[in-house]
Amino acid sequence: MPPYNAHVKLFRARVYSPVADPFTTAAESSYLSHDDGFVAVEGDRITGVGAWSQRPPCEDVVDLGRNYLITPGFVDTHLHAPQLEMIGSYGGHLLEWLNRYTFPTEAKFADPEHARTVARAFFDELLHNGTLCALIFSTIHLEATDIFFAEAERRGFRGIIGKTMMDRNAPDSLLERPRDSYDHSRDLLVKWHNRGLLRYAITPRFAPTSTPQLLEYAGDLKREFPDAYVHTHISENRNEVSWVQELFSFPEYADVYDHYGLLDDRSVLAHGVWLTEEELDLLSRRGARISHCPNSNLFLGSGLFKLHHVLDAGVIVGLGSDIGAGTTPSMLNAMADAYKVQSVQSVSLSPFQLWYLATLGGAKALSLDGEIGSLEGGKSADFLILDLNATPLIAMRSSRASSIEDLLAGLIFMGDDRLVKRAFIAGREVHTRE
Ligand SMILES: [Zn+2]
Repeated sequence: MPPYNAHVKLFRARVYSPVADPFTTAAESSYLSHDDGFVAVEGDRITGVGAWSQRPPCEDVVDLGRNYLITPGFVDTHLHAPQLEMIGSYGGHLLEWLNRYTFPTEAKFADPEHARTVARAFFDELLHNGTLCALIFSTIHLEATDIFFAEAERRGFRGIIGKTMMDRNAPDSLLERPRDSYDHSRDLLVKWHNRGLLRYAITPRFAPTSTPQLLEYAGDLKREFPDAYVHTHISENRNEVSWVQELFSFPEYADVYDHYGLLDDRSVLAHGVWLTEEELDLLSRRGARISHCPNSNLFLGSGLFKLHHVLDAGVIVGLGSDIGAGTTPSMLNAMADAYKVQSVQSVSLSPFQLWYLATLGGAKALSLDGEIGSLEGGKSADFLILDLNATPLIAMRSSRASSIEDLLAGLIFMGDDRLVKRAFIAGREVHTRE
């Protein structure tokens, strides 16, 4: 028998985790699943996962039973913290919606007290919904962005956050001088990048709100800090694509970001609904990632993302809620809407593929798959305990599930934040639902 280790804690319940990409691997070898399983945690690490009958000796057991499912935390690869309060702002496509709702909302973040209130509510919502890692837009404000970082750190949240950079085509109150944008971004980057679980993303909002000089400064920052992320938008809406072609003299939208050195394997571009073959080829060669935000694409009428087309081009894709154009922070909803967006294009995604996109696939999109995204020995102990009896209807649906695939499908299409009983990041409990 191996020596008894007093520091290991075993969680006993159903266990499900993707372990490989089900878009390129046979479904049955893309995940692990145990009806009666364990996850062993020591400090901030997972030290083992398996069938209960194969558990290591341990006296510290949290026995949850078969009505709970342990699964990796959800990863949201694109959302806007300041837009939490404007979810569901009604009417209009992207460019009109930005002017009517988004810019006035973001201008309020000049007030640090407002930023503090929204930051608390924002991380509450993410944790309630089981999102344990996210790539996050702030506003242009240095202090508000600092507040979002500080709140993430206080919660033990795993976040990649960036100050929005904008210097044209927005109200004056949201425009900055390119040099100030660089200086403020750099200050925040130096303070927060690689501090604990936090990382910095260089965050030009998108090409239309950036002058060439601003993008030049963003590129300078990226050259100075090559392991920082780049987070922006691309090809969400057809009018936006034509506008970029008027504003910049490049053949394609993606060429703008490439020209300023903003595309590599730490670049995450939200949407990509209207990318051309040439752009997909460029993104694939650079290793840039796309965040697919189906709820937002449907809400703003942006278009139908061609998932397999993008994956076949060799571009890595994660899922995003895109709060506040997306109408819920729930990644279960993102999975359900991703299914529907493909379904109307005659493509059927399996529950395994959907769960992968919201966990290990999202982690891969953020280059964090060595650390999180699946329940495997050596990875950080970032996981959820889902309550399969969360509501009478969920209990009824879960009890008749004939397989793990069927169980996951029920949770994807019917589940919400009530499913998330407890959540752990790096072994630390960050949420419990009473
Ligand atoms: Zn967005």
